[in-house]
Amino acid sequence: MTIRGNVQSPILVAGGAGFIGSTFVYLAAKAGRKLVVLDDLSTGHRGAVAAAEAVGDVRFVAGDVADGPLVEEIVAEYKIGAAVHFAARIEVGESVRDPAQFWDRNFVATLRFVDALRRAGVGRLVFSSTAAVYGIPAREPLDEAHPCAPVNPYGATKLAVEQMLASYDRAYQFRSARLRYFNAAGALPEAGLGERHDPETHLIPNVIAAALGQGGPLSVFGDDFPTRDGTCVRDYVHVADLADAHLRALDFLAERDESLTANLGTGNGATVREVIEAAAAVTGKPVPYAICGRREGDPPTLVAASGHARAALGWTPQRSDLTTIVEDAYRFFVARNTP
Ligand code: UDP
Repeated sequence: MTIRGNVQSPILVAGGAGFIGSTFVYLAAKAGRKLVVLDDLSTGHRGAVAAAEAVGDVRFVAGDVADGPLVEEIVAEYKIGAAVHFAARIEVGESVRDPAQFWDRNFVATLRFVDALRRAGVGRLVFSSTAAVYGIPAREPLDEAHPCAPVNPYGATKLAVEQMLASYDRAYQFRSARLRYFNAAGALPEAGLGERHDPETHLIPNVIAAALGQGGPLSVFGDDFPTRDGTCVRDYVHVADLADAHLRALDFLAERDESLTANLGTGNGATVREVIEAAAAVTGKPVPYAICGRREGDPPTLVAASGHARAALGWTPQRSDLTTIVEDAYRFFVARNTP
């Protein structure tokens, strides 16, 4: 097998101060990788990189991923061999209300970042994509060959980047792994890392907050879907498992002269009610909730066919059973809210 790049050369991580990025940086640093984090801290937290700095060789640069000259300077100074791109806006509802910033950050800024990498001679990128590229599932579970027809600007911006990367692959041999996340969840409480979105819209942190009596009862967005209990089914995948897939994708790109598109999900779905039950069991408290109307754009079921990531990357989720996900999110939540 041809080795195209040194697996051990430093990795540039755009958006490494966010939820998934900081978990990746911590686990990669622990695994002995050298990392440079580039983040403008618009939604990330400087402190989220501290745990990684304490265990490994990690540098932090405050700056914009769209700043081409800065990216080229970082690549030259640190002899970057590959990049991982997490920096993005993520809230679907906000993308419908205010698409301009999603196109600007998720597409334009990403194009600037990728092109700076190309000019600087870095030809390997792991990109955070999403199950939202598929739109409304025509069949389940969703495999990578399912047509892509996103139903919101968030998914559209991510699909546009995937298409840009496919053209860079053909024209410039710029290789990329486009990882389509299903529902990123869980936390790394042992490193003080977890979800800290403001406002928090994701189900699991909101269920835990409701169980602990913070912010009132949980709003359940619809119980009349064609699913086993009427609430939506999602494929929750632990953030540590996502991070592990990124490390494997970097190795894949270093060892093979080809790009990759792969779902990151477990292949198992949980309903909103099942998440509520898991949180009640983990916290030992009932979860107060109210059934509300459906949220716009929520498909009844989103479950990954995960065979491709398993086969191509040798990836097997280790921490993605629902109880472990909720336990880790709960431990992080309690630690963060304890003075
Ligand atoms: N959800 C809910 N109440 C909340 C947040 C989410 O009922 O406060 C539901 C949402 O409608 C979806 C599922 O939980 O069916 C997962 O939503 P989340 O926002 O966590 O992720 P998404 O699937 O939108 O990426």
